[in-house]
Amino acid sequence: MPLLLGCIADDFTGATDLANTLVKGGMSAVQVIGVPDGPLPEADAVIIALKIRTAPVAEAVGQSLAACDALTGAGARQLFWKYCSTFDSTDQGNIGPVADALLKRLGAGFAIACPAFPTNGRTIYLGHLFVGGALLSESGMEHHPLTPMTDANLVRVLARQAEGGVGLVPFGAVELGAVEIRKQMTRLSESGRRYAIVDAVTDEHLVAIGEAVAPHALVTGGSGVAMGLPENFRRAGLLPERSDADALPPMQGAAAVVAGSCSRATLGQIGLARNHVPVLELDPLATPDAAALAAQALGWVDGKLEAARPVVIAASATPEKVAALQSRLGRDAAGALVEEAIATIAEGLVARGVGRLVVAGGETSGAVVTRLGVTSLRIGPEIDPGVPWTFAEPRGIHLALKSGNFGARDFFLKAFSHE
Ligand code: ADP
Repeated sequence: MPLLLGCIADDFTGATDLANTLVKGGMSAVQVIGVPDGPLPEADAVIIALKIRTAPVAEAVGQSLAACDALTGAGARQLFWKYCSTFDSTDQGNIGPVADALLKRLGAGFAIACPAFPTNGRTIYLGHLFVGGALLSESGMEHHPLTPMTDANLVRVLARQAEGGVGLVPFGAVELGAVEIRKQMTRLSESGRRYAIVDAVTDEHLVAIGEAVAPHALVTGGSGVAMGLPENFRRAGLLPERSDADALPPMQGAAAVVAGSCSRATLGQIGLARNHVPVLELDPLATPDAAALAAQALGWVDGKLEAARPVVIAASATPEKVAALQSRLGRDAAGALVEEAIATIAEGLVARGVGRLVVAGGETSGAVVTRLGVTSLRIGPEIDPGVPWTFAEPRGIHLALKSGNFGARDFFLKAFSHE
């Protein structure tokens, strides 16, 4: 299977989101954790997940170029630079500098920048990014601790951090479809611009934009604009009609959920699970010791592990309890303690025969994946929007990594009725 689309993502969950979008579009996709030493896995799309959203610019550029070389070396036809749909960055970077470096490495002169994701309320109109009904700069993102977004005008935002000019393909042109979008891009490129922010308010716009960028060496944006890309490869006769893009090896082993997310959705999911399956709620305030918490949990699961229904082990707690632990230990140490405990529990569960594991929480997922030594995730069927089952190598287990607020209330039960 030749590699078609090579992707570089600036964070882990963003990579999964993109991979999931491509699989839904009929491409097989594997997410790789960091730039791999050896050969890339076989798939229509490979997504190299980096952790460079807030890294120093030189480091972000260096890692992206290494990822680019790995992907082009494997024959990728097109590259995708994936960043957050709220354009998380500063005037120093890293969206612009990475895009500049990739364009140069690919010998290309022009790319779009389109973080729009209408399904999640991220729309771009006349170059301004909206989050739900609010301008980006009034959406709460202006207070982000690492990447405060105080300007909603993406043409200006990107111009401050990229070399070469930035123009706009406005709503009126996008409405007319791929041919007009392409005309506008040619106009911008001929007038010396290197980037185009492209307006998009609906999924139809994203599909048209996707079609328009078929000949581009580099596409940059959120996962939304990737919606239109699989069709380009089909149109070019490179991507066969696949009904098995999301196929994974059969599930094996016992079922379990570990949760370190304290988001409202996760608390609701744990609440519902309590009525149906064994649930252990850890109390890090009473036992502020990761090894002791893990020992409690692994003692508790003894004799409870089954394939047909999960056990649920949760550190998740109400905001009051979280605040109590944080005021005792400090915020970072509290988080690290729980992440360490959950990672040890996940490792113990796998050692005891768990082969299908749901992890709730973005940071928690990172801790578990690292502890399990996972190097790649093949993306399978979606359980709930944005959360697919994956097959983790080299462990050979199924993992579903759920960021905090994702998933319906019955997520922990529904996940295991998927085969
Ligand atoms: P989400 O995706 O919901 O944001 P994360 O896993 O990214 O979830 O973040 C949750 C953070 O809260 C983690 O660092 C986790 O270790 C921490 N945490 C979980 N339970 C508790 C608790 N009871 N007290 C304090 N911190 C906790």
